[in-house]
Amino acid sequence: MSADVEIDAWLAEAGFALPDVKRQARAALEEAGLTRPGKSRLSTEKLPRAQTALSARFFLHCATPECVAFARASGKQAVRCEPKSTCQRCGGSDNQRAVRELVEACRQRGASRLVVVGGSPAVREELARLIGTSLELRLVDGTKARPIEQAKADLAWAELVLLWGATELHHKVSNQYQDSALGPVRKKLVHVPKRGIAQLLAGAVEHLRR
Ligand SMILES: [Zn+2]
Repeated sequence: MSADVEIDAWLAEAGFALPDVKRQARAALEEAGLTRPGKSRLSTEKLPRAQTALSARFFLHCATPECVAFARASGKQAVRCEPKSTCQRCGGSDNQRAVRELVEACRQRGASRLVVVGGSPAVREELARLIGTSLELRLVDGTKARPIEQAKADLAWAELVLLWGATELHHKVSNQYQDSALGPVRKKLVHVPKRGIAQLLAGAVEHLRR
């Protein structure tokens, strides 16, 4: 006996939980010849094909306006996801969403290099994980003295240098950057006196859009 799954439950888990959306997803599976009307179960061996058929056709998005707009521009049929964690743009995470917005804003401005000064080691690690390879990233410990030459080099290298206030950032370190950011370079330097990753990145996006 081959294993199978309940189609409704499987769709719900994949993000197609809202009744209307579930109906559309089911119709797509029937169209692809993977099931027919009235059948409630699907063999597990068909699941990869079912997944492919759905992702070729739909873009799941959460209620965030940016995610809705992104889904509509995807060239696929935009459908509202449930649960939120299945949003194909943000995965339901404020931090992940903030990273996507920052990466999009950077692309629009032709920026690819970012320096972040401050934050705790754990938060810097999380930030590096979230950004991955989407941007070139230099993370600076805000509690250790940074030679002024290094601060100048960071400002020369990056398109954007974030001074992450309200975190572990010593004045001695932030002053090195502030003192080095002269003339046009000053525009690269952004002081964000907020704590969380999402707020930090939102501050950066706001600056880029200005
Ligand atoms: Zn989303």
